[in-house]
Amino acid sequence: MTDDITELTARHTYGTWRAQRGWKPLHVTKAEGCHFWDASGKRYLDFSSQLVCSNLGHQNQAVIDAICAQAKELAFIGPSYTCDIRAKAALKMLEVMPAGLDKFFFATSGTEANEAAIKIARLYTGKHKIIARYTSYHGSTAGSIAATGDMRRWFVEPTGKIPGVIFGPEANCYRCPLQQKPDTCATACADYLAYMIDHEENVAAVLVEPIVGTNGVLVPPPDYMPRLAELAKKRGVLLIADEVMTGWGRTGKWFAMEHWGVTPDILTTAKGVTNAAMPLGVVATSRAIADHFDDNFFAHGHTYEAHPLTLAPAVAAIDEYKRLGLIERSAKMGELLGQKLKALAAKHPSIGDVRGLGLFWAVELVKDRTTKEPFNTPQDKAARKPLVIDAVAGEMMKRGVTVLSWVSHLVIAPPLIVTEAELDEGIAALDAALSIADEKIA
Ligand code: PMP
Repeated sequence: MTDDITELTARHTYGTWRAQRGWKPLHVTKAEGCHFWDASGKRYLDFSSQLVCSNLGHQNQAVIDAICAQAKELAFIGPSYTCDIRAKAALKMLEVMPAGLDKFFFATSGTEANEAAIKIARLYTGKHKIIARYTSYHGSTAGSIAATGDMRRWFVEPTGKIPGVIFGPEANCYRCPLQQKPDTCATACADYLAYMIDHEENVAAVLVEPIVGTNGVLVPPPDYMPRLAELAKKRGVLLIADEVMTGWGRTGKWFAMEHWGVTPDILTTAKGVTNAAMPLGVVATSRAIADHFDDNFFAHGHTYEAHPLTLAPAVAAIDEYKRLGLIERSAKMGELLGQKLKALAAKHPSIGDVRGLGLFWAVELVKDRTTKEPFNTPQDKAARKPLVIDAVAGEMMKRGVTVLSWVSHLVIAPPLIVTEAELDEGIAALDAALSIADEKIA
């Protein structure tokens, strides 16, 4: 049966972000807490919460119950009506969103949330340019892929993109795009974005992931975000924070922007908002933006927006994050995870950098620590060459631990309920698998 399911899936459904040949999706039959099982009964430790989204752990009972109860009460009502859960979800969001963000658009993915945010910024400012950063991921549809800096945008250029997005440097202290050193740079990368605004016309917004996620868990220096917010504000340009991955306790706060005391004009989020048990994307906007649309047309909407079945699990998930104290737990367990990963770096010459915050970490592999030369490049991935990082992740999987891998780094982001024993289980698999990369040095 397993082979049938895998084969039927590959034959009749698209495997995404890849050529189809060779796609053999693992047939999963059960998931619980930090683990899931395949059809042969093999157990896996989910060391990246799927796509950094199962923050509460798999099959959280309160979330599942909320979906079932809502389905029985009212599974759907169209966007121009309301129902109890729409008002309840908005109120629940207010409990945890940065103060000042108090009007929401509920979509069905992170991509759609960013798509809406771009439109809202354009409608509000009457300007159309969006400044994004080269190392970034914001989604897969025309607007959000246009704002995406990573290699995935290459595959849709120029047909699948909107015009008006320009790219600037990211805050990457391991590989500074401006060849600066973190202690003396004075966040030149933030100033560069202001320089872009000053030399472009019609800039509506700067769109950033507070901590770049898929592309390497890049934590900016402490002064970066306050500086960027100040520079954007002075120029009347909106700051959009894409917290699709960094929200919901992942970094040890409800939202990563809280680490720097910065409230963006627009915050987008998804994933952990429902523990990924239902597809929900959220756009949270400032009161100034909300008020603008009192007399201006809000030119956006979907049949499935504010869908009751997506809002009920969001309310339940927020209650669960609180009940289980998971925001604080993420900060605490994250420190432990960081220490354990750094200890591995002392042992494995193939580790170039270990960085992260809360339970959100990356391990970047290099051929040579001094030159920081990577084993592989995005071009290698595009050319479908075998990547060292995939060999390491593959070995971990053989050992029953799954992680996300991307060109040169692994993203390590277990559910926020992870125990120290589970951290050790994941670290042991990584420790063993890294010998594959170490052997390629010498
Ligand atoms: N923004 C960020 C920062 C993301 O990490 C992702 C997905 N990984 C998205 C947007 C897109 O979200 P979705 O896949 O739900 O459309």
